[in-house]
Amino acid sequence: MRGTPVLNPSGIRGQRWLSVILVWILVGIAVHARPAPQERPSSTASLLLLHTNDIHDILKAPRGNTLGGIAYVSGYIHQVRAMRDDVVALDAGDILEKGDFLGLASKGEASYRALGAVGYDATVPGNHDFVFGMGQLRRNIEASGIPMLCANIIYEDTKEFVFQPSREIRKGGVRIGLIGASVGRDNVFESGRRITTVRHPELGKRIASIAAEVNHRTDIQIVVLHGGTWAAQAVAKAVPEVDVVVAGHTNEVTTTPMVAPTGALIVEVGRAGQWVGSLDMVVDLDAKKIASYQYRMIPMDRKKIPEDKELTKRLEEWEKQFCPEGGDGLSNAPKKQPRNKNGRKGP
Ligand SMILES: [Zn+2]
Repeated sequence: MRGTPVLNPSGIRGQRWLSVILVWILVGIAVHARPAPQERPSSTASLLLLHTNDIHDILKAPRGNTLGGIAYVSGYIHQVRAMRDDVVALDAGDILEKGDFLGLASKGEASYRALGAVGYDATVPGNHDFVFGMGQLRRNIEASGIPMLCANIIYEDTKEFVFQPSREIRKGGVRIGLIGASVGRDNVFESGRRITTVRHPELGKRIASIAAEVNHRTDIQIVVLHGGTWAAQAVAKAVPEVDVVVAGHTNEVTTTPMVAPTGALIVEVGRAGQWVGSLDMVVDLDAKKIASYQYRMIPMDRKKIPEDKELTKRLEEWEKQFCPEGGDGLSNAPKKQPRNKNGRKGP
């Protein structure tokens, strides 16, 4: 009688072993068939540069529909800083002259204190900022608390820097080198010592020397230059490590950044705090260069921009302090529109 087939236990074990071996072969094939890992993507970090130039004592909100007022510049920058931790704010000089009587009456102290309230990470000395002499400029800088950078204004006798030439800061995940430069001003003295300005091509060599020294400690290098876009092009050409030049002095408007042959971006944003330039970057931390960017000029429209009410209150207090006779403490609206890079008026 054919009995019920009896399974051979050793046969079952043999099949299991066969299965295990097959699985290992398949896994082995799968492992070897896996595509080679792609190259590790570059590490990146965001950085938002907000910038102004040629504020020119325009402190209180100008009359009429003209944009600006330093309390709105401050309100905007504080608003953005409350939302992002990767903001660097820079001013490219000429804080003084041509604007409110308050600036003149306080010998620039109110204007510099106002800039201090904005919280810039650095500024540079514009030619107008020397108007009350070096002693007062020193007092104004101290009152503002803002680092004043300049690599090309030196004492004629010893060739030493008059101002700190550069500084290094970190915003978000980006290490930033900041270098200052300026067109300077003639016939400036401090304690009897003549102060002189180093110009091109020596200026380019000086900035190149600083940039080379700090390059291994920074991811991006920004030059703050009171010297217009032409001078900015010359600096970019002389210093390939420079990624951005924030310009001033010529009241130009770069609605889109100029791109130097080295790839450096050059920006300048009119005058009188009518706009804040906003350069939103993605920085490639391995290549140490800007991977991508977006640029906008933010109009300081008083209907849309939040006012720094604390600063407005302090401006009123300073007006009582420095203009006890009353005077014309109101802002002079800019008399002429700035030129853009094509020579047209307005942004
Ligand atoms: Zn200037």
